Amino acid sequence: MNSLDNYAILAVYEARIRDLESLLEINKSLSSNLHYSSVLDAILLTCMGRARVLKAGLFIKQDIDSKEFTLHRNYAGFDTDRKIKYSVNEDCELINTLERAPKCYTMTQLMNVTTNIADIKTFTILEPTLIVPLMNRGKVQGILVLGERIINEPYLGDEEDFLLNVAGMAAIAIDNSFLFEVSTTDMMTKLKLKHVLFQTIKQSFNSDKKPINLLMMDIDHFKNLNDTYGHSFGDIVLIKVASVLLASLRLEDLAARYGGEEFVIVLNGMNTDDAKLVAERIRERIESLEFPYTEQGKNEVVKTTISTGIARYNGGIDFVPEDLIKRADSALYKAKEGGRNRVEIAT
Ligand code: GH3
Ligand code: MG
Ligand code: MG
Repeated sequence: MNSLDNYAILAVYEARIRDLESLLEINKSLSSNLHYSSVLDAILLTCMGRARVLKAGLFIKQDIDSKEFTLHRNYAGFDTDRKIKYSVNEDCELINTLERAPKCYTMTQLMNVTTNIADIKTFTILEPTLIVPLMNRGKVQGILVLGERIINEPYLGDEEDFLLNVAGMAAIAIDNSFLFEVSTTDMMTKLKLKHVLFQTIKQSFNSDKKPINLLMMDIDHFKNLNDTYGHSFGDIVLIKVASVLLASLRLEDLAARYGGEEFVIVLNGMNTDDAKLVAERIRERIESLEFPYTEQGKNEVVKTTISTGIARYNGGIDFVPEDLIKRADSALYKAKEGGRNRVEIAT
């Protein structure tokens, strides 16, 4: 073997080592506590660099109970039309095909295996050069689409292997965050579950961050609403009220479903006057909601209100989360006694 051959072999090994190094690097970042969207960015950038493409995007589920994969907003390069919804249904034949034969596909290859053209309509618009399924536990967790390449050449076997590996890691990361969401979220209201609330309060007791304010909220006369308009109408009200809570908070705050129609909000680094302003704003927003009721030949607009008790963490008397919750609950009781649709602060 001459020295030229040796150099060629060496170059191949070096390229493989570089690939392995990038895979290790990605794996590290996926296992660390990075924010979900920066994980997606890292995956996208790595694939763009390795595949030498100018355009790339990830189709993933936007929500825990979503039934479709939608183009995530971190896509790069593609000229998208705001009027078009870029998504793929999870129950379509295309997804079945990808699960049966998980590999990289060009658009032509995809057209050959899919009889239902409607399934790949979204891809047809984006004109990808390669479609890579994100596979974990035999299921598609998302789809990576690569667009125009810097050099117009077919993908090499090594490149496809690398992309499939990265896609596999991305799928694990997405699946993990999905499982985490499901095990910490109340599926009906999308608020956090009670155990997350207790964990959050405990952590805040132990941290030297600014003290927290705890808001205990309860829908007024909810039993009456259920009895008059039915349980499923009550559910609609519950879901809407919860969405108002979520929309009224910052990323660092927490909203949990404490019981049936009882909610707890944890506000971080805020004095009690500001916490009261937040509670008042939420109270007003809920008071202004209108729920049309049109069943049984009726045509009514139903309204609802909430009462709130606020307690600020006090290291001298709050030793366990229950202590703080109990004080917020007493303030809530005062708000109910005082006529409901009001906010009271614990003494
Ligand atoms: P108050 O103003 O004193 O809070 O009166 P209330 O009627 O709201 O209080 P109560 O605690 O007696 O009633 C709460 C009701 O909430 C009773 C229960 O049937 C209803 N509820 C609890 N969870 C759910 C749910 O998930 N969906 C619906 N529709 N109702 C629920
Ligand atoms: Mg109630
Ligand atoms: Mg109640």
